[in-house]
Amino acid sequence: MRLIVQKYGGTSVGSPERIRHVAERLVATQRQGCRVVAVISAIAGVTDSLLKLARDVSAQPSERELDALLATGEHAATALVAMAVNALGAKAISLTGAQAGVLTDRMHTRAKIANVSPKQIHELLSDEYIVVVAGFQGQTAEGETTTLGRGGSDLTAIALAGALNADACQIYTDVDGVFTCDPRVVPDALKIEGIAYDELLEMAGAGSKVMQSRAVEFAKKFGVAFEVRSSLKPSVGTIAQAETANMEDVVVRGVSVERQQAKVTVTGVPDKPGSASRIFSAVSAANILVDMIVQNASGRNSTDISFTIHAADLPKVEQLLGPVVGDIGARRVSAQSAVAKLSAVGIGMRSHSGVAARLFDCLGRGGINIQLISTSDIKIAVIINEADVDRAAQLAHEAFGLGKQARVRKAP
Ligand code: ASP
Ligand code: MG
Repeated sequence: MRLIVQKYGGTSVGSPERIRHVAERLVATQRQGCRVVAVISAIAGVTDSLLKLARDVSAQPSERELDALLATGEHAATALVAMAVNALGAKAISLTGAQAGVLTDRMHTRAKIANVSPKQIHELLSDEYIVVVAGFQGQTAEGETTTLGRGGSDLTAIALAGALNADACQIYTDVDGVFTCDPRVVPDALKIEGIAYDELLEMAGAGSKVMQSRAVEFAKKFGVAFEVRSSLKPSVGTIAQAETANMEDVVVRGVSVERQQAKVTVTGVPDKPGSASRIFSAVSAANILVDMIVQNASGRNSTDISFTIHAADLPKVEQLLGPVVGDIGARRVSAQSAVAKLSAVGIGMRSHSGVAARLFDCLGRGGINIQLISTSDIKIAVIINEADVDRAAQLAHEAFGLGKQARVRKAP
């Protein structure tokens, strides 16, 4: 008998109607002859309002108590889903992360899964229960409740699918799947049928926030294939899976954009060991995430270093770097906000040449200036003015033949 893990996010259980709809889907899946495990997130907005409540009563709530509080969001949602299934005349039971056997380390609010022992789930499945598991939470060896970081229900679903050796893992969400670009930016973007884990990671990191990155990394490590699909429509979604040979035939799988970036440049950095370390130690000590880093080839014993951060972090970074620049003997710091990152992603880049040239060519012809460039083996990313980013995405999408028209032309 097939075993299916279905994960439903916060918007999919956002109202009583939607909860009933999820219940119907679970029952229908069981009636097709499957064993069904559901992983449920807190109702949309609940985790945020619990966090707000915590901050309203305490400037610095303890992480242990935060976990105890946040776990209640998923507790409520799973109980409601189980009730809705029972109301349809089928059998369901809700389980906390601990009852489901999700064992984690002790890092409250961002715990890592150490082990999953789904013995109880197996027993309940044999008794024909639909097992409804609270996502995003686990338990330490000492029995303390932990949570897995924001978006952590995705990770629960992948980890359970792996531990149960499930035949399918379906991530139901409010989008239809993973697209070649955000359809709000590029109207003829297409749903991608199959995507490699690494491509999804690069695209998620680049701003298409379909899945928690940690969940995708976990899926890659343990080879758990999963499907991202809509909870509101019956259509199939996008399958994320290990690479197959013919996946490399497509040079670029998708184009993604990330807005609200800022570019910081330190000029006249002395070309000697330790300079870069001083700059980036100062930034990381403030817990600020740096994305792209570019250092120029040096001339006359000094060089320029540029990097990008989220625009919201810019005032802090400028303030931090002021003294550092003096200390290391660099010339000055300059910054520009209102820039954005555009990335073209595809494992096919490993075996095809000319991808960068094609991207730069379409941007150049569109009169779009490139400010920084960085590459990995499956991604080319550029920093451009934020005002240009929609048009840049449309041009790149077309240049790589990703849209609907391109497909029609190729298949006469
Ligand atoms: N409820 C948690 C959050 O909002 C976990 C999740 O939705 O996956 O981050
Ligand atoms: Mg989510």
